[in-house]
Amino acid sequence: MNIIMLGPPGAGKGTQAKMMVDKLGIPQISTGDMLREAVREGTDLGRKAKEYMDAGKLVPDEVVIGIVKERLGQPDCDKGFILDGFPRTIPQAEALDKVLEELGRGVEYVINVAVPNEELITRLTGRRTCKQCGAMYHVVFNPPRKEGVCDKCGGELYQRDDDKEETIRQRLRVYEEQTAPLIEYYRGKGVLFDIDGTGSIGEIFEKIAKVLGA
Ligand SMILES: [Zn+2]
Repeated sequence: MNIIMLGPPGAGKGTQAKMMVDKLGIPQISTGDMLREAVREGTDLGRKAKEYMDAGKLVPDEVVIGIVKERLGQPDCDKGFILDGFPRTIPQAEALDKVLEELGRGVEYVINVAVPNEELITRLTGRRTCKQCGAMYHVVFNPPRKEGVCDKCGGELYQRDDDKEETIRQRLRVYEEQTAPLIEYYRGKGVLFDIDGTGSIGEIFEKIAKVLGA
């Protein structure tokens, strides 16, 4: 089963992908992990990627795609894979199609986990982090016993800049701009499945499993 996960930040697609790994026995492949692995192993492409990462620059598509190709060609991907965080743009999706074709394969399922923006904002702006030990809380879903105080070490809880509403709205805007065309791209190929990403983690997973016939 060759699967791509799509969904905005906060939709919980990483969590769902992990559950699918357990159920389907195929690997979850995230761009970040893949890049780090290539860098650690010191492959030609890994060394190229490292130059960009060390300079604080985005790794260009051609390097990322080369690394994706190497990764998807490994034996643990024989039965399939779950791509998480890649592709993000139409050029990346087209390059991925080409790579898969060279490997004699294709994308079979694109799981689009959709959550209304206002709910994403509630989920993401409610995060609080301990200044002392880094423990994470959520004002609605996982509140500390005493407001603003870490249960574990008594440290002060704060809202990271990444979790502020303006930052989150900006990330959601970028996601929509880049990914909306991707949704239509895969819909046109007849492989897109929309999943309602509201409700419990278990409920969402059941919907995904049903689509996959798993
Ligand atoms: Zn703490």
